[in-house]
Amino acid sequence: LYFKQTISVIIDILLSSPCMFTAYLYHFQCQNGHVACFSCWSKLSNKCHICSRDAKFARNIALEKIVESIKSSCSYAKWGCCKFINYAQRDAHEEACLFAPSVCPISNCGYRGFTGRWSGHFLTSHSSDVMRFIYGQPFEVNIEVSVPFLVFLGEDDHLFLLQNNNLTPFGHAFSVVCLRSGNLNWMFSYQIEATSRKKPENRLQLKASVTNTRQWTGIYPSEAFLLVPFDFCHSSNIVLNISIERYAVV
Ligand SMILES: [Zn+2]
Ligand SMILES: [Zn+2]
Ligand SMILES: [Zn+2]
Ligand SMILES: [Zn+2]
Repeated sequence: LYFKQTISVIIDILLSSPCMFTAYLYHFQCQNGHVACFSCWSKLSNKCHICSRDAKFARNIALEKIVESIKSSCSYAKWGCCKFINYAQRDAHEEACLFAPSVCPISNCGYRGFTGRWSGHFLTSHSSDVMRFIYGQPFEVNIEVSVPFLVFLGEDDHLFLLQNNNLTPFGHAFSVVCLRSGNLNWMFSYQIEATSRKKPENRLQLKASVTNTRQWTGIYPSEAFLLVPFDFCHSSNIVLNISIERYAVV
């Protein structure tokens, strides 16, 4: 009971701060004990927001300690994050949290989805823009050379992008990225094969590990890609043979 009362007193104090929210570690109080967070205090120009008097603000170290010690679970706890963070570190943590959602790569969609849970969104919103595949089984794609990426959905709901980067005057650079943040228990590798239509004896192959990305921003991985010469195109299409493997991280 005592603990509950203490908490409610603290909450009352925090709510009396002008912004009613304590995102800052520094807290100030007037000579009558009215508190304001750093952000509010810096706008008050030495007039208290409650007693309206000319105030001599001083830092309230005890309150700062209490606020600092109040920790709550990350917003993405139900997706697997077990971190407890205090207010001041909350934004920074959630921005970088491994379990934060990724943004749907289809332009103008804006949907935020979680790693390994993409099929529902794609089947209802973009069913014609996604291709399902099974790990370890090669599949053929026919990509129109002006398309920046194709979307593949793994059998376990992981979302992959085959990225196409036009590197004039050489050709197209292809690479595979996985759109994900959390659940890094699985790693992926991929293989791309291209065969020239004009000279089928000209073949190219890439084996590489899949890069993880939170969001498609049009930035292409530089560690590995397959550069397919323009000569491999056939009426502005390139045929690629792709296979993606999944393996557990030990
Ligand atoms: Zn404030
Ligand atoms: Zn005051
Ligand atoms: Zn988190
Ligand atoms: Zn979408």
